Amino acid sequence: MKRRFCLSAALALSTLAAQVTVLKNVRLIDGTGRQPFTDVSVVISGGRIRDIGGNVQAPSGANVVDLSGKTVMPGITNLHGHVGMTKGLAQAKENFTQDNIEAQLRNYASYGVTSVVSMGSDIDPALMIRIRDRQRDGHVIGARVYSAGRGFTGLKGYPSMLPGNQGVPFEVSTAAQARTYVDELAKARVDLVKMWVDDHLGRYPSLAPELYTAVIDQAHKRKLKAAAHLFYLADAKKLLDAGLDAMAHSVRDAEVDSDLIAKLKKNNATAIATLTREQSTFVYATPPAWLDDPFFTRAVPGDIIKTVKSDPFRNKVANDPDFEKNKQFFQQASRNLKKLSDAGVRIGFGTDTGPPARFQGYFEHWEMELMVQAGLTPMQVLQSASKNAAEFLGVAKDFGTLEKGKYADLIVLDKNPLDDIRNSRTIHSVYIGGVKQ
Ligand SMILES: [Zn+2]
Repeated sequence: MKRRFCLSAALALSTLAAQVTVLKNVRLIDGTGRQPFTDVSVVISGGRIRDIGGNVQAPSGANVVDLSGKTVMPGITNLHGHVGMTKGLAQAKENFTQDNIEAQLRNYASYGVTSVVSMGSDIDPALMIRIRDRQRDGHVIGARVYSAGRGFTGLKGYPSMLPGNQGVPFEVSTAAQARTYVDELAKARVDLVKMWVDDHLGRYPSLAPELYTAVIDQAHKRKLKAAAHLFYLADAKKLLDAGLDAMAHSVRDAEVDSDLIAKLKKNNATAIATLTREQSTFVYATPPAWLDDPFFTRAVPGDIIKTVKSDPFRNKVANDPDFEKNKQFFQQASRNLKKLSDAGVRIGFGTDTGPPARFQGYFEHWEMELMVQAGLTPMQVLQSASKNAAEFLGVAKDFGTLEKGKYADLIVLDKNPLDDIRNSRTIHSVYIGGVKQ
C-alpha cells in the first residue's frame, strides 16, 4: 500500500515537472526591439520558453490558454528598487522581515515587475540573499530579487541621516575599510555593489573620491558591478573614470555632454533615470489624480492615500526649501535621459520605489510613461525594462527578452503598449518562470 502511494506520488511529480503551458494566439513583443510577432503561440515548460511560432503543435496534456487579441511583453525588470524597509509611510529597520520582503515582491509581481534590484538598503543582507537563493532554487515568490546588500556612504553621509536610514549604509572613512566591507558583501554573495555619492545640495559630506575608487576597484576584483546614486555631472564623470558600471539616477544639476557620453560608452555603463523618484519630491503638493486610479488604489491601503492627500502631508512637500528646484531637477533628468538614449548609451530601467510614498508597482508603469514623455519610443522603454536591464545584470542568457530558451517572465496585456505606453497597465496576467502569479 505504502509502496503504491509512493509510486503515484512520484508520477504526479514528474507530470508536474513536464507540465507544458501554451499561450496561444498572442501578439508578442519580445524585448529585442524588433517588430512584434502577431498570432503566435508561446510554448513554456520547465519555466522556460521552448518554442514560439504561428504553427506550433501543443503537446497532448498541455495547458493551452487562448489569448486571442492580447499582447505579451517581457516582465519588467526594475534595476533600482528598495525592498522590505518600508511599512505604510515609514521606513525602519524593524520592517525588514521575510514577511514584509515577500509581500513587497508579490506586490511588484502583481504589477508585472518580475525582477527587482534592491539597491543598497538591505540592512540584513543575509536575509535577502536567503530569499533570493530560495527563488533561484525554483521557489519563486513574487518578483525575482537581486541584492546590493548594504550600500556605501561617507561618515554621516547621505542618506544615513534620513529617518529610518541610520546604520543602513556602510559609513566608511578609509579605503581599507571600504575594501573590507566589499569583501564581506562578496562573501555574502550579493549581486552588485551600491554607493551614494551626493552631498544632497550641500547638506552632507559626500563620499570622497579615494573611497569610492576603492569601492569600485574592490567590487571589480570580486567580479561585482558597481552602481552609484549620484546627482552632479562632475561626480558622474569622476565615478566613470574610476570604473563605475551604472548611474543609478540621472545627472540632475546640468545637461549631460559628449564627455560624459564617451565615458559611459567606454565603461559599457548603464544609465538609469528614476524619473518617478524626481516626481515624488514635488508631486504631492497638489494631490495627483492617479491617487484615485484603481490601478493605484488596488495595492495601497485607504488610510495611506488619505494621509498623502492630507494638508499636513501636502504642506510638507510644498514647503520643502528645494520644492521649485526639484521640479527643475525632474526636467533636467528627462532631457538628459533623451540625450543619453539618442547617443546610444544603454538605458536601464529603474524607479527607486520602496521608500515612503514611492509606490512599488504603480510607479514602474508611471516611469515608463514619463520616459515616453521624455522622448523615448514605447519600444525603447520596453527594451530598457527587459533586454537592457538583463544585460546590465549579466543575466541576458536567461532573462530579459522573450526568446527560445529563456525564462518565461512575462506580462499578458489586454491592449498593445506600443500604441500607448499606458496600455502596460491593462494587465490580464503575469507569469514568472512560466507560473501564473
Ligand atoms: Zn535608491
